[in-house]
Amino acid sequence: MTLSRFSLLCLACAFGVLLRAETGAELAVRAAALHARIFTIDTHLDTPTLSLRRTGWDISQRHVQAVDFSQCDFPRMRDGGLKAGVFVVYVDQGARTPAAFAAIRDNALRSFLRVHAVAERFPDQCGLALTADDGPRLMAAGKRAIYLSIENGYAIGKDLTLLKTYHELGARFFGFVHNGNNDLGDSSQPETGPEWNGLSPLGREAVKECNRLGLVIDGSHAADETVRQLVAASQTPIILTHSGCKAICDHKRNVDDNLMRELAARGGVIQMNTVSQFLVTTPPNPELARAEVRRLARSAGANQTDAEAAEAAVGRYRLRAEMNTGRATLDDFLKHLFHAIEVAGADHVGIGADMDGGGGVVGLEDVSHYPKITLALLRRGLSEADVEKIWGGNTLRVLRAAEARAKQ
Ligand SMILES: [Zn+2]
Repeated sequence: MTLSRFSLLCLACAFGVLLRAETGAELAVRAAALHARIFTIDTHLDTPTLSLRRTGWDISQRHVQAVDFSQCDFPRMRDGGLKAGVFVVYVDQGARTPAAFAAIRDNALRSFLRVHAVAERFPDQCGLALTADDGPRLMAAGKRAIYLSIENGYAIGKDLTLLKTYHELGARFFGFVHNGNNDLGDSSQPETGPEWNGLSPLGREAVKECNRLGLVIDGSHAADETVRQLVAASQTPIILTHSGCKAICDHKRNVDDNLMRELAARGGVIQMNTVSQFLVTTPPNPELARAEVRRLARSAGANQTDAEAAEAAVGRYRLRAEMNTGRATLDDFLKHLFHAIEVAGADHVGIGADMDGGGGVVGLEDVSHYPKITLALLRRGLSEADVEKIWGGNTLRVLRAAEARAKQ
């Protein structure tokens, strides 16, 4: 049977409809629907450090970044379609003495309690997430899922048993180092130079303990050699909860393409941060650097009250805002995100913006702006399945791998 001219015409029309490019408006609608539907997680929110310590600061209320510098609360998480966040128990690197270890452990414990208090106070709005399944389960119940992480292995000093304590308190991610080397390994930003050439012997024991407990190892802030050794030593994929690409901005905090490929080859994930000085090259700012040294000197004594510590954190933001230097934009952030996807693949990239911890760029000032990322990814030509992995699937996968290893 031959096709009539009429049926050929119909076929051509049908193909015409199918092949017609999606308009910008249609893409925006599709992006919004996708973003609302999928599980989304930001793997690095410093809300416990910046906001939860402030007297009277209420996470269930909407705040304005331009007024109080905070970048995450429940109303803005809802606006931004952010279903889950990893709340960070962060400790400043300080003296490596028994007294300082004890004080910093107590600081970390208080941070855990602050997050637990949020979950207890607002059970209708959020819940603590302890497993990979908990996040999507809480999302289905219309609640924000709160995961917990440690930033800086200094929080255990030299006491590996604290890993179990923190795990029992809900930590599921463990960042080995911050700025400055510690007893577990070398930082990407040491005061002097490498001390261990990667992991220390204790750091290697910590890797085993993390694997045994089901703690996902976080290599952000670690020196390249430390990351490389973490990738090789860990029996489960590791995560960089808030990092960037050296190929786009040559900063010590960022990782180069080879290391990203090594991480991906072992199933790991790199989550893109939004800290301006890691996204674009900013001119040195001695005044800001001096203020940071003063802030660290004050907190190193660990005798600060919560109000004092919170005021110091806010002060840093205020100074940055006043100086208004070198702020990156959403496009700068996207350059890093797209590059990481190109190099590591969509199965190995995610979002960890470091909101409330120095993150936030022009156009992505707080968590309420996150739907823009989904729109940009679709506009870039990524599939909806890939966007879903980037926003949450990859993080859940590494969590599941850590859980499975712990059960063995
Ligand atoms: Zn950090």
